[in-house]
Order: sequence, then structure tokens, then C-alpha cells
Amino acid sequence: MGYVVLGFVLVFGLFVGSFLNVVIYRLPRECLSVVKQTRSRCPRCGVQLGWYDNIPLVSFLILLRGRCRRCKAPISWRYPLIEGFTALVFAGLAWRLRGWEGLEYPFINPESWGVWGVQVTVVASLIALSVIDMDFRILPDAITLPGIVLAPLMVFLVPAAMPAPYALIEGGSAWAPRWNALLNGLVGEALAAGVLWMIGWLGSKAFRKPAMGLGDVKLYAAMGGVLGLWVLLVLPLASILGSVIGLAVLLVKKDHYVPFGPFLALGMVVTMTDGPRILEVVLQYLGR
Ligand SMILES: [Zn+2]
Repeated sequence: MGYVVLGFVLVFGLFVGSFLNVVIYRLPRECLSVVKQTRSRCPRCGVQLGWYDNIPLVSFLILLRGRCRRCKAPISWRYPLIEGFTALVFAGLAWRLRGWEGLEYPFINPESWGVWGVQVTVVASLIALSVIDMDFRILPDAITLPGIVLAPLMVFLVPAAMPAPYALIEGGSAWAPRWNALLNGLVGEALAAGVLWMIGWLGSKAFRKPAMGLGDVKLYAAMGGVLGLWVLLVLPLASILGSVIGLAVLLVKKDHYVPFGPFLALGMVVTMTDGPRILEVVLQYLGR
């Protein structure tokens, strides 16, 4: 049974990854609509793709062998990569939340599937945003603004998805954890937006040019909606990851622009899954 559940999760991840490819390709290109269903076309010869060309991974690897059916133009390896990556992350999160036992008996402790649902929604949005940020240096409002609205609602529905919320509401009623998560989310959003906007403002004063895009501020605010006060951990994590990886990119590519979005995304995933434990380890280390 465990393998069946894992298989379902992987296939689901593949299809979500396939949808993310559509979002990543179409969203930043104004003339293409994500929602209006026109079938995808080959960017070179314009041939419409059939449903059989759109089976995640399978089409690319077996049916098309990485080339367009008509003009044989090579299809970017990025499509299957994003599909595979999304599937692996979805499976990894399910494994982490439920363990092998929880996959063998998928109907026991269904609440953790709710947490999984929130986490994969967050991760899917972050994958799309990160790739678009690397391609076009923008974080589209079409993802970040709905994120700001939906994030507190998600933790209201699944309070366990928020890492160790601060007890802003006391009381033993069944709804207290929900309202508490919602409130933490709203405070987290305001805090995140304020902190990053402030840093950007100081940076632009110091360097006499815009230091941070408003897109980063909106993305960070949305993260606060899921993480509550833990959102403050994302920034140091993102900065550390950003300096290490950014330096490596700088040395290899000699391109001095490194988008911040992907690092915020990495920091968010780490905080969402392991934030409280990381802080505990750091505090223990400092206390020695
Ligand atoms: Zn073609």
C-alpha cells in the first residue's frame, strides 16, 4: 500500500509540475493566458500539441525524445526537470510528514495530509515564482497577491501547517487554534512586509539605487501569512544561502545580478519544515 500511495503522490506531483511549466511559460508573457485553454504550441513551428504530447515526463522521454513532433526542434530539458523535481519534493514532504508507516496506512491521522496540502501549495507557488524570477527578474503579482490573501486562510483551515504559532489567543475552545493561526498569519504578513520594505529603503539610501524590488516584499509578506512570526527566520537563512550560492554563481557566470526570490523560497521551505528545530540548535550552540 505504501508504494501505491507514494506512486499517487509522485504522479500528482508530475501533473502539478506540468501545470507549473505552463504557468512559468505563459504568465510573464502578457499575450498568453494561463486560464483560457488554448493548447500549448511548439515555439518554433507553432504546431499544436495533442494531449498525448503533454503527459508529464513520459512524452518527453519516450514519445518525443526531447524533440518537437513536426519540426524536430529540441524541447528544453527544463520541462521534464521541473516536473520531476516537483514530484520528488511532493513525495519528500509526504514522507517527512507521515513516514513510511503513515504511507502504508494513509487513512490514519488524516490531519497531516492537510498540512501536506498546504506545504505542496506553497512549494508549487515557490517553484513557479523562482523560475520566473530567474528568467525575467520579476515576481508576478498574479501569484504573490493571491498568496497574501490565501496564506492566512490556509492556516485557518489547517492550523497545524504553521510552525509553532505564538499564543496570541488564549482559551480552550476548538476554534481557538484556528483563530490563533489566522491572527499569527496576519501579524506575520505585516511584520514581513514592514521589515523587508525597511531594509530595501535603507539599502536604496545607502547605494543610491533601488536595492530591493516590491515583488520581494509582496512575496515575503505572503510567506508571513503561513509562517507567522517564524517568517523572521527566512531572511537570515535566505541571506546566508544567497551569499554562498550567489558568490558561486558570480564566479561561474560573471553576471552580477542574482535574483533574491529563489533564496527567499529556499529559506521559506526550510523554515516551514524545520524552523523551530533550527532555532533550537542555534540557541543551544550560542548558549554553550
Ligand atoms: Zn515544432
